[in-house]
Amino acid sequence: MHAAATTVIVGASVAGIRAAAALRHNDPHHRIILVDGENEEPYDKPPLSKAVLSNTDLPSPHLTDHFGHGIDYRKGTPAVAVDTAASTLSLGDGSVIRYDNAILATGSAPRHLPALEGIPCVHYLRTFADATALRNDLRRRPRVIVVGGGFIGSEVASSARELGLDVTIIEAGERMAARVLPEPVSHALAALHALHGVTVRCRTVVHGASYDADRRAVELNLDDGDTVVGDVVVVGIGTTPCTDWAADSSLPIRDGFVCGPDLRVKGTSNLYAIGDVARWFNPRYGDEMRVEHWTNAREHAAVAAHNIVHPHAPRHASTVPFVWSDQHGTRIQHVGDPDLTAVDIDAVELSHSTRVFTYSRGGITVGATGFNAQGALAKIRKQLVDQRAPSLHRDHTHH
Ligand SMILES: Cc1cc2nc3c(=O)[nH]c(=O)nc-3n(C[C@H](O)[C@H](O)[C@H](O)COP(=O)(O)OP(=O)(O)OC[C@H]3O[C@@H](n4cnc5c(N)ncnc54)[C@H](O)[C@@H]3O)c2cc1C
Repeated sequence: MHAAATTVIVGASVAGIRAAAALRHNDPHHRIILVDGENEEPYDKPPLSKAVLSNTDLPSPHLTDHFGHGIDYRKGTPAVAVDTAASTLSLGDGSVIRYDNAILATGSAPRHLPALEGIPCVHYLRTFADATALRNDLRRRPRVIVVGGGFIGSEVASSARELGLDVTIIEAGERMAARVLPEPVSHALAALHALHGVTVRCRTVVHGASYDADRRAVELNLDDGDTVVGDVVVVGIGTTPCTDWAADSSLPIRDGFVCGPDLRVKGTSNLYAIGDVARWFNPRYGDEMRVEHWTNAREHAAVAAHNIVHPHAPRHASTVPFVWSDQHGTRIQHVGDPDLTAVDIDAVELSHSTRVFTYSRGGITVGATGFNAQGALAKIRKQLVDQRAPSLHRDHTHH
């Protein structure tokens, strides 16, 4: 009888918690140590830009019932280094843990806007503490400026409008959510915000700011010479993967930990990366990618947990990216190939608030976005998941 294998999971959020639960499910005897730098019970992230901001009662996004049985959870204990040769992780409290396998699930953190460093009333949104601080400031009934028209910024704008606040979105790019959505869909999103009273200014860059302490107001200087004044500024301009803590290791890091299709970090035999922090080779698309969506974190967790318990029958993470977002009472869902350049777009309006945009390449459906069209999106998502990987390879990929 062998001693139980030990897996250390770094990061107790969407991916890490799911990995712990899947490992426990796959192997009741596995020793699982879960560490996180935050001093919180594990919680879910999507409610932080939605119900946590807009609901009268503060909902609890905590995830405590998803794990428990025999998992050694150490909160407030960041990993500060990994030694792949010795298979050890060093923690912030000075302890060193030896692992048989480790899963790196350290996620991503908001990019900061240098022009706003040191200005009070500027918020970034990633943690429960960030969301509670923003929630408290929104209760002062401020004028809200959101810098960044991606999903997080748009959701904050929508939550602030639900509270009846004055909201402006400043977006540097040509259009909203351009990293994820094709042009006509960005325009539909901007129209939804306009309909609900949000001022959206695209192609506008914030290049400076000043704070008026008497009025507790922030004045943002824009590149077109204009200024906008708000009482609260929320910045949502993207994130960077949390890999700095492992920078001194020999691990391959390139906008995330670089992994093979089985999510093993390249050059290692017993170290996996999952969720927002993983840049992995997705065999379905024949390409490396990093995906910052909730479902991806959960799917990765299941694959890594399987591969640890069944090393001789490894699975590949050939996932189809999927994300949802709730804005102004509309459920937006987006599925498929993360590269939507050179696709044909077919837009179908089922009612004034229900629409489906379908994307195809060479007659083959490669993705879709729905506005309040959960049934249609579920069908397309299933169809994409069932498609055999080779038919999806993009013409321009080299590998
Ligand atoms: C406000 C908000 C709303 C969102 N809404 C949606 C949505 O509606 N739909 C959707 O699909 N996706 C949404 N997302 C994205 C989704 O939540 C993320 O993709 C998901 O949280 C990724 O999970 P993760 O576990 O990989 O990383 P994270 O959730 O970022 O968790 C990483 C964890 O690692 C910990 N950590 C970091 N460094 C260390 C270290 N050195 N040592 C120990 N611990 C460390 C952190 O404290 C954190 O707990 C949202 C994200 C946010 C922030």
